[in-house]
Amino acid sequence: MYKCKYFTIEELVSPNVYDAKGDRCWRWFNPIALKGLDKLREKFGPITINNYSTGQQRKFSGFHLQGEFNRSEFSGHRQWGAFDLKPHRLTAEEMRIELLGHEPTENGILPSIEGFEEITELEYGISWVHVRFCSNIDGVLVYSPN
Ligand SMILES: [Zn+2]
Repeated sequence: MYKCKYFTIEELVSPNVYDAKGDRCWRWFNPIALKGLDKLREKFGPITINNYSTGQQRKFSGFHLQGEFNRSEFSGHRQWGAFDLKPHRLTAEEMRIELLGHEPTENGILPSIEGFEEITELEYGISWVHVRFCSNIDGVLVYSPN
């Protein structure tokens, strides 16, 4: 079983999920997603996902239960495969530009990201990096949530 090198399980699941299942949550994540997060951390430096375990506000930036946070029924956040990242050393837009070569301005599917082929979804035009792993597409779906 793969567990992240750089993230605790509380950083990846909501407080209710952690309270109910604790470290058993690791088993429900696809290891491709967990390894992808570690690779992003190695390239971009410290990244905040959830930070409630240190008394801060972010609770729903990884997996959460239906009804805990207002998102689409089909959100990757409810399928153990999407994360909202706040990199410390650069802005979200700068991180997307590093990954994609530019900040997208329209929805579509871009070629896979060299070195990060497991990333299959990125949202643009937002102040965090929404990244999803494991969707069954060839490339990276980019779209604006607005
Ligand atoms: Zn998201």
